[in-house]
Amino acid sequence: MNVLIINSGSSSIKYQVLDMATETVLAVGLVERIGEEVGRLKNTVRPDSAEARETVLEQPIPDHRTGMELAIGLLTDPAQGVLRDGAVIGAVGHRVVHGGEDFSGSMRITPQVIEALERNIPLAPLHNPANLDGIRVAMEIFPDLPQVAVFDTAFHQTMPPRAFLYAIPYELYEQDRVRRYGFHGTSHRFVAGECARLLGRPLEECNLITVHLGNGCSMTAIENGRSIDTTLGMTPLEGLVMGTRSGDVDPALHLFLKQNKGMELEAIDALLNKESGLKGLCGMNDMRDIHRAAEAGDRRAAIALEVQTYRNRKYLGAYMAVLGRVDAIVFTAGIGENDAVVRAESLRGLEHLGVVLDGGRNSERSREARCISSEASRVRVFVIPTNEELAIGRETVAVVRG
Ligand code: ADP
Repeated sequence: MNVLIINSGSSSIKYQVLDMATETVLAVGLVERIGEEVGRLKNTVRPDSAEARETVLEQPIPDHRTGMELAIGLLTDPAQGVLRDGAVIGAVGHRVVHGGEDFSGSMRITPQVIEALERNIPLAPLHNPANLDGIRVAMEIFPDLPQVAVFDTAFHQTMPPRAFLYAIPYELYEQDRVRRYGFHGTSHRFVAGECARLLGRPLEECNLITVHLGNGCSMTAIENGRSIDTTLGMTPLEGLVMGTRSGDVDPALHLFLKQNKGMELEAIDALLNKESGLKGLCGMNDMRDIHRAAEAGDRRAAIALEVQTYRNRKYLGAYMAVLGRVDAIVFTAGIGENDAVVRAESLRGLEHLGVVLDGGRNSERSREARCISSEASRVRVFVIPTNEELAIGRETVAVVRG
């Protein structure tokens, strides 16, 4: 079955067409600047093959529907589309950011599911409406295809109250669902599954710590295959130091900034989400630039690296305490997969907890899943490339097949 994966944002749509029989990418695309004067669509056919071919369109793309129709036009082009000669899409899988407490797994989209997504808009006021746009457009274009929602939050619905409650008046949880939800669930679950395979054990018997370090960063404690704690909270701002997001700060910072800097709450929210994290500390948010700068003697770049890896280490220690037995630590996403220095610094000093890196294995460059701990390490350490689209594709097929 071919599955169309859609990740719809407020002014962009990312998509992939996957052949799920072989788990290969038939096409990948990005529609961006929707609603701006000139929009852009880039479609790449068979990106992982020697015949990869790229098409770029630049034209006004007033809305999501137009963007999706342009993409479908390229995909079904009788001369060179990947969906010609009777090849069809069998299902559509949608990435949805916030499922609130309504969804602990992927769901076939029904009017009730859409209603629940609308109910959860207050929890993700930027993301869920954009995801809903993508769902509505896909349902209009493919009214007869099964459509599946795969939630960033679903994997973490197994967290117990002691991990998901904030210590604030309980009524805020009861009445307004203020609690920790966690995100990146599709990625954490995917790499956990791959790790279990490498360990040669069922996931249900594995205790893991998965560390997703990309633009967004989060860490999850997994006990017997289930998420029992994760660093992102009610929104994707809590926890680790990210590219432009602060992660943990003292909540009283808001009052300080208001009283001393005259900042409104919206400005503080923007500061913490867009101007903080690595960028806030050193002016850069791409880890490659930060390394170059630190090596050239930029003190703030070095500090930014230290703040991020220290925070990683602190949460690793916390999750080792929470789990007791840890079978493996898994690094994934842009930084986690590529950055040997961040991995080594994040694990520095954890030898007494049974975590021993193999320096040579850690610094080898590879796009394959691999073990980077030494033979003496009680806790194994892996680098496992994440693949959220493939994970969404697998979930979609599983839901469609019941
Ligand atoms: P997203 O969270 O947007 O999916 P990615 O997982 O692709 O992001 O991660 C993007 C980040 O990964 C970049 O901002 C960069 O900091 C980092 N990154 C990518 N390649 C490398 C590399 N070779 N070495 C270090 N960091 C890298």
